[in-house]
Amino acid sequence: MSRWETVIGLEIHAQLATSSKIFSGASTAYGAEPNTQACAVDLGLPGVLPVLNTEVVNMAIKFGVSIGAEIGKRSVFDRKNYFYPDSPKGYQISQLELPIVGVGSINITLQDGPNEGQPKTIGITRAHLEEDAGKSLHEAFPSHTGIDLNRAGTPLLEIVSDPDMRSAKEAVAYARKIHSLVRYLEICDGNMQEGSFRCDANVSVRPMGQTELGTRAELKNINSFRFLERAINYEVERQIELIEDGGTVAQETRLYDSDKHETRSMRSKEEANDYRYFPDPDLLPVIVTDEDIEIIRNNLPELPEQKCQRFISDLGLSDYNAELLTSSRELADYFETALALAPDQSKLLVNWILGDLSGALNRSDLDIQSSPINAAMLVTLLQRISDNTISGKIAKEVFEAMWQGEGSADSIIESRGLKQITDSSAIEGLIDEVIAANPNQVAEFQAGKEKMLGFFVGQIMKQSKGKANPGQVNQMLRDKLKA
Ligand code: ADP
Ligand code: MG
Repeated sequence: MSRWETVIGLEIHAQLATSSKIFSGASTAYGAEPNTQACAVDLGLPGVLPVLNTEVVNMAIKFGVSIGAEIGKRSVFDRKNYFYPDSPKGYQISQLELPIVGVGSINITLQDGPNEGQPKTIGITRAHLEEDAGKSLHEAFPSHTGIDLNRAGTPLLEIVSDPDMRSAKEAVAYARKIHSLVRYLEICDGNMQEGSFRCDANVSVRPMGQTELGTRAELKNINSFRFLERAINYEVERQIELIEDGGTVAQETRLYDSDKHETRSMRSKEEANDYRYFPDPDLLPVIVTDEDIEIIRNNLPELPEQKCQRFISDLGLSDYNAELLTSSRELADYFETALALAPDQSKLLVNWILGDLSGALNRSDLDIQSSPINAAMLVTLLQRISDNTISGKIAKEVFEAMWQGEGSADSIIESRGLKQITDSSAIEGLIDEVIAANPNQVAEFQAGKEKMLGFFVGQIMKQSKGKANPGQVNQMLRDKLKA
């Protein structure tokens, strides 16, 4: 047992999936030529006025109601003042005192470790709207820094958690849950490589049993869940070593370097009053009525937790399997598409989706959306098992061939000659051959050694290259040997 307890709070920036920016009509599309999508409003040129994109407000409310949060009936945009080359206005429009989303919470379930399977509630302090800054480009120019302002003014929802997580694994489980939720809600595309979903991790340690929080460091530049876990674990070790050597942790922002696997100091952390926040005089407070909230609440899609409960109660799936299948909207969609085609095959579908298919996806580092085997293809394969065209074992071979792009289950079964042998005279021929070739084993069986049956079945299956129908082989073999 470590003497130290880890405490983590996450700040997640989810880029809201609107086609235009939060305060202007400029496009938010990713990957355009630098500086082709920043208009006068995004640059804050003198004389322009920002106009709030109401879609952004609706998306934030959608998120708020789905985490059971109080929605701010009157929220206010503030200017957060700081100088940075990628923010030519000299301030960022954000929300300080009156955010659009207040206190809420979300449940996580750990998939491994000592508390496996236990649910834990993570508090969400608030979520507020703000605009993104531009980007500094260091690589394209040898001795200069380029500035691309396309991203300036892109809408962000900053989701701030309470310091409720106690390990890197919990932090990852929480981040994944939020990631899954914003995708279910279709308010963020969740693309971490493109920066549409970014996590900053606030990490501190304290002696076990102490109630006050230790001094935290804020880790930035984390663009995958794997790096989130690694960055936190590295930082925890660093802080413990530092304190045990008599040092103290500085409150600062640190950059995670995934190549070197370390965190480095970037800057000391500013306090809120350094930013001289004040309400933006160009923007009116945002007023939200109960009716607005109810309309949004009534139009929410089925949320992951509801879907999970439905899979458990209506389909009889285990908690664990239901949790896994609803961990992403795309995976749940895949399952439901397949289930619609084969409504009485839920068990077999779950086994194949969470077993062979997930395994293959993991090995190739693919998402379910890019699976070479779509739901309809998988269903056909499973139907060939249940209509006795192939055995479950041969199905693995067909699956592999489908994965490699060889075609549909039926065409693979046909071209590779994998059809199960159900013709009883053919099976009888195989049985006779094997019996004739193994007189000693026959004698042993007839002397009462029942388990020799397995030996014969094995030999016959081998002779048939796995294609004989195992049920028929068993039945006919018994009859023959007893004769
Ligand atoms: P700031 O305004 O400086 O970003 P906040 O008070 O808003 O700071 O907290 C930011 C995040 O840091 C929150 O997610 C919060 O839970 C987390 N946090 C605050 N104090 C600590 C701490 N001592 N250890 C770990 N996380 C912390
Ligand atoms: Mg903050």
